[in-house]
Amino acid sequence: MVKAIYPGSFDPVTYGHLDIIERASRVVDELVIGVLVNSAKKPLFSREERVELIRETTREFPNVTVQTFEGLTIDFARQNQARLIIRGLRAVTDFESEMQIAQTNHSIDPDIDTMFFTTSLEYAFLSSTIAKEVAYFGSDVSKLVPPVVEDAFRKKYDQ
Ligand code: ADP
Repeated sequence: MVKAIYPGSFDPVTYGHLDIIERASRVVDELVIGVLVNSAKKPLFSREERVELIRETTREFPNVTVQTFEGLTIDFARQNQARLIIRGLRAVTDFESEMQIAQTNHSIDPDIDTMFFTTSLEYAFLSSTIAKEVAYFGSDVSKLVPPVVEDAFRKKYDQ
C-alpha cells in the first residue's frame, strides 16, 4: 500500500498540477493533496476556495483526497503515514530549490522519499502566478486552468 502526499500552494490549481495529480494517482494507491496554509503569504484564494477547486477538479480520481496543512511538509507526510512526497519539476530553475528541500526532508526522516514528475511539455511554462496574471488582465485562461477555476477568476476579478 503506497500512500503519497502532493503538497503545494495551489493558488489556484492549474492544468499543470492536474497533470501531475493524474500521473501520480496512477502509480500510488492513495494520494493526499496538501494545500499549504502559510500565514506569511497572502493568497488570492482562501484555503476553503483552494480546497474546493481541487475537489471539484479531481472528482474523477477515486484515490485522491484533499486536506490543508500548516507547518512542515514532512510532518504532514508523517501525520498521513505517507512514505512519499510528490513534486513537479518544470525547469532547471525548479531543480536547485527542490533538491535542497528534498534533501532536507530526507535528512529529517529517511523513511520518507520525494518523487519528482517532470512536467508535460505543454505545461512547462505554467504556474499559478502566470494563470493569475493572464486572468487579471482579462485574457483567455482556458488552456491554463479548468472551467471551474476560470469561473472563480471571473468572480474574483469581477469580470
Ligand atoms: P509551491 O508554492 O509549493 O511551489 P505550487 O502550488 O506552485 O506550490 O506547486 C506545487 C507543486 O506542483 C510543485 O512541486 C510545483 O513544481 C508543481 N507544479 C506547479 N505547476 C506545474 C506545472 N506546470 N508542471 C509541473 N509541475 C508543476
